[in-house]
Amino acid sequence: MKQNNGQTPNNENLRVVIRVRPPMAREIRDGKFISTVQVAPDNLQLCIFDYHAIELVPDEDLEQYVSNPSNYTLHQFTFDYVYDQDSTQEQVYNTTAALSVDSTLQGYNSTIIAYGQTGTGKTYTMHGFSFNPNSDQLGIIPRSLHNIFNHIQMKSNSSTTFMVRASYLQIYNENISDLLRDSASLNIREDKKRGVFVENLSEWAVRGPAEIYQLMRKGNAKRVTASTRMNDTSSRSHAVFIITVEQIEEKPEGKSAKVGKLNLVDLAGSERVRVTGATGQRLEESKKINQSLSALGNVIAALTENRGTKPHIPYRDSKITRLLEDSLGGNCKTTFMAMISPAIDAFGESLSTLKFANRAKTIKNTPIVNQDGDQGALLRKYQLEIQKLKSELEERSKQPLENLVNELEKEKQKALEDKQEAQSAYEQRSKDLFKETELRKQLEEKISALNSQMLVGGQKIEETPQFQSALEKQQRLIRQQYQEKLTELEKERQSIEEDKAQTDKYKQLLLKQRDIMIALTNRLNDRDETILQLQEELDVYEKLQKENEDQLHSQQIRLEQFEELFLENKIEIPLLLQNQKQFNKEKVVDIQNDLQIQKLESIPVQTLHTNQQVQSDALISYELKNQIEINKQIQFDLKLTRTELEKSKNEIEQLKKKQNTEQGTLIENARKSVDKILELLTSEQSEQSLGNVAKELNQLQRMLKQGIQPSRTHVKGQYSFSKSTSDSPNKIMLINKQNDSMAKSTGQLVKLMQMKPQPKQNQSPVLGSKLKQKQKSVEDLWNQI
Ligand code: ADP
Ligand code: MG
Repeated sequence: MKQNNGQTPNNENLRVVIRVRPPMAREIRDGKFISTVQVAPDNLQLCIFDYHAIELVPDEDLEQYVSNPSNYTLHQFTFDYVYDQDSTQEQVYNTTAALSVDSTLQGYNSTIIAYGQTGTGKTYTMHGFSFNPNSDQLGIIPRSLHNIFNHIQMKSNSSTTFMVRASYLQIYNENISDLLRDSASLNIREDKKRGVFVENLSEWAVRGPAEIYQLMRKGNAKRVTASTRMNDTSSRSHAVFIITVEQIEEKPEGKSAKVGKLNLVDLAGSERVRVTGATGQRLEESKKINQSLSALGNVIAALTENRGTKPHIPYRDSKITRLLEDSLGGNCKTTFMAMISPAIDAFGESLSTLKFANRAKTIKNTPIVNQDGDQGALLRKYQLEIQKLKSELEERSKQPLENLVNELEKEKQKALEDKQEAQSAYEQRSKDLFKETELRKQLEEKISALNSQMLVGGQKIEETPQFQSALEKQQRLIRQQYQEKLTELEKERQSIEEDKAQTDKYKQLLLKQRDIMIALTNRLNDRDETILQLQEELDVYEKLQKENEDQLHSQQIRLEQFEELFLENKIEIPLLLQNQKQFNKEKVVDIQNDLQIQKLESIPVQTLHTNQQVQSDALISYELKNQIEINKQIQFDLKLTRTELEKSKNEIEQLKKKQNTEQGTLIENARKSVDKILELLTSEQSEQSLGNVAKELNQLQRMLKQGIQPSRTHVKGQYSFSKSTSDSPNKIMLINKQNDSMAKSTGQLVKLMQMKPQPKQNQSPVLGSKLKQKQKSVEDLWNQI
């Protein structure tokens, strides 16, 4: 908390000092060094010479050239202090840093910022590269602490109590790390009590000068490790050493606490701001350095340029400016130390550093003493603790001293006993250890004697006859075992070979079997097709056979009808017809035989002879058997048909006979009836006799009608009888009979004509010709008729 306790804040400018470092060996040519910087004797002013085209001047003319004012432009600056190249660390401390330390001891926040190009002595000035308290090389940090402790020492008998703490941090690539403790990246925080601070940054209590160096070593080692790892980042990182001094002063009016802080800042090399052409990590670093240093430049610019209204100061643009927020334009007494090199080579950098520092001069800070703030709480807490302990001690002191002495004596005795016990145990352990070591040594010696080419009695072990014979024996044994193993292996190899051959054989066999199987499958497929074809053909044959038989049968009937017709008409049966009948019978047998032969022929010859396989033979024999069976069946069927035919014929004969006898009786009766009529007609002509004649005639007519009826179905109305006819009854009868016979034969002829065979469609080519033959013979017969 920035408390002023009624103080009137003093606006004071940043103190700006310049330090010119001495020339380095590499900057001296032929024992001569040409400086571009000149410091005024009052140590307040400084001139820098801008030589025109000095790089073109030969070395021998340099001295003369630089002394001619027409060859340079002069830049002049005034600062709070300018240290020339001969200034010592002590001088710098005493005339600049000591003021900051004093301010801290007074309870102010103080800051010293070292700014400048790399290699101009920032670290040298701040640190000093020495850990020897008596060295004149010691920088500001150790000198500050020494100074603080001296101050504390001086005040040892006063009523003031002090507490000194130190922290050390680094900002690299915008990451804050603790240089006194391993830590992750740290963050900057701000609160009302503490202002801006680094969260979780370790603080180390420093109780004496010895502890200063311990901390410095620790911090620097970390910074160096980091710099090696990051390729000399010491010039690319900012380092801040923070010393906090808390003090409580006992006054008659009461206690007063003060907290002063000293920030010692070693900035990264300012020349990096203008580095161009860098790549990769370097570029990133440059960007970050650029970022932080240009942020510093922007903060300074904002603080110095805008004076009227309250300007915005971009502290938050980088970690370093955020951390130095109090130091730049805030509650702090700040000293800006710019380091420059006097060398011509560094002229540009030196001039820009001087300009930068010159600008910083105008920054105004408002430092106040941090009094009675909570920042003194830690010290107060410690003081309370001390008081408590002190009272405890006093309490103890009140106890009789004798008791304490006795107690102490007892404890001493016990401690002595413990010590003795521990010592004897230690001795025992040592003895054991010694024994163990001896034993191990012996063993090692033994082993090395066996292993090495050690000489035994002036002769190498392996050359002794015992060793030789043992070796030979061992070798023999090994050889024998080897031989046995070899034979075993050979046997194994042979058996594997045999197994392999056997496997090959099986393989071949399997392959052959596979081929056979494929062939068989193909053949079976072929056979299936053949069977199907045969089956189809067989069906056709059977159908045809049936048709033929039907045809023959109808022809037979027709022939018989012809026979009958001829008989009835008392015409001699032509020989041709008889022959045809015989021919038809023979034909039936022929067709049957043909069919059987054709069936056998239609089986492919190849399948009968070329088949070597058992399966196919079986198939053929099965098929043959089948065929034979079928043929047998056909024969049997034919026989059956034939007997049927015979039977039908007999029946027809019998019917014919019956009809003939019936006809005979009918004719007889008719004749009787005619005679009776004639008799009646020739007898007396009475009315009754005429009526009888009429009756008789009617009866005769009915009789004749009934008798002829069955065979007259086709020729109705051909038969006629007229009452008015003048023909004699015999004549009539004859006519009737003739008419009857004619009608019969005419009807049969019509029937025959209707039965005229039609040409068959879709018949097999084999049977086609046979059928044609048959058809022709029937037609011939027909024509003859
Ligand atoms: P920076 O930290 O600025 O990069 P250093 O502090 O590392 O520079 O200094 C670079 C070198 O110059 C070091 O060897 C240092 O000892 C030397 N040096 C710097 N300033 C002085 C000086 N005023 N007197 C003697 N030697 C110096
Ligand atoms: Mg340095």
